[in-house]
Amino acid sequence: MNIIDKRNSLASSRSTSYRRRAKSAIRNIAIHHSATTSGSAEAFARYHVNELGWPGIGYHYVVDQDGSISLCHDLEVVSYHVGNSNSFAVGICMVGDFRTQSLTVAQRQATLELTRSLMDQLSIPIDNVWGHIEFPGYSWKPCPSISMHSFRNWLREEGATFTDSPPPSPTYVAGARQRTILSRGDQGDDIRALQERLDELGFHPGRIDGIFGPQTADAVMRFQRTASISVDGIVGPETREALRDFESATEPIEHGSPTDEPDDREEMYRKETRRMLRLIQPMMRGTDVQEVQGKVGVATDGIFGPVTEASIREFQISEGITVDGIVGPQTWHALDRIQENGGGGYQRLLSVQTPYIRGEDVKRVQRALNIRVDGLYGPLTEQAIRNFQRREAITVDGIVGPQTWRRLFN
Ligand SMILES: [Zn+2]
Repeated sequence: MNIIDKRNSLASSRSTSYRRRAKSAIRNIAIHHSATTSGSAEAFARYHVNELGWPGIGYHYVVDQDGSISLCHDLEVVSYHVGNSNSFAVGICMVGDFRTQSLTVAQRQATLELTRSLMDQLSIPIDNVWGHIEFPGYSWKPCPSISMHSFRNWLREEGATFTDSPPPSPTYVAGARQRTILSRGDQGDDIRALQERLDELGFHPGRIDGIFGPQTADAVMRFQRTASISVDGIVGPETREALRDFESATEPIEHGSPTDEPDDREEMYRKETRRMLRLIQPMMRGTDVQEVQGKVGVATDGIFGPVTEASIREFQISEGITVDGIVGPQTWHALDRIQENGGGGYQRLLSVQTPYIRGEDVKRVQRALNIRVDGLYGPLTEQAIRNFQRREAITVDGIVGPQTWRRLFN
């Protein structure tokens, strides 16, 4: 392994520094791509420090396309790369945008070798080597955009040599013995092939276990949304075809985004202390579940089941945030805003704006008008308000101000 020690030469903040931890706190190795077609530890460090204001580069290691490895931090450094999981993860970033590029042989070998040596040194099992997207709260993040299932298989093949041709992709094509439609509850090799294909395309379906469960359905829906086909979580002919052809249809990505982390969610994830709530087996229970249920308006039994999940999705749609049915930092923040609104008093003027005003208050208005409740203040809502104002003999302007609000609710 060709490791270059850059711990003292990369850009770092003069005023802040990362926390440190004991090596024994490390439980995961996180694999990233840089989402840039080129780059270096030096460039990422400058970006993280100068543009994002971080104490130093986010990654512990950067692996270049030629297979050379930059050591950027001691393992004890708690740098930013996987939000809430930073304190127990080591970050390895491979330079490249694997949505459009492939790993080079040298890079793959160096990354595998590095990962294996870290696994040995820190006693980390293969199953704890995760892609960025596999960390809690990151199912929206297409990083590292390679199949982590394959990556972990490569790790198992100690000493294996690689050629430039990628491993044959799972036979995800129409075949004689294949079922035509795959949906929740199905099991078998065709489900496994489906999961592998989803994983390969970066739509992490959870465990590759040949069982079509909620996570697989979720991955199918995320895929369908991305592929712009009907979103039903079921794999029929249309979805099957889209899965087969997806790569060739991938749009070119604009180059030059300096890192895969340039968004403000990192900070939010870092500060969030509440646990992530999601639909799993056995179902999660607790007062936090109850609190969430109260806010999205479902029975507050304190058990995170399918109905709660569905309501969370609806809530996320109306808030315009990532729709995954999971209460992570972003959704917690959105839910917090409901509380601040103090149970639905008049808060703001509602009118048709571009983009449309959205929120719980709009929903309340729509419910009161007995029209479709989508939480968006669009032309139909405006028209219904005009009619209402006419009936109430108040100023007809299609705008919900304090007077109209009072008439609606008092
Ligand atoms: Zn990443």
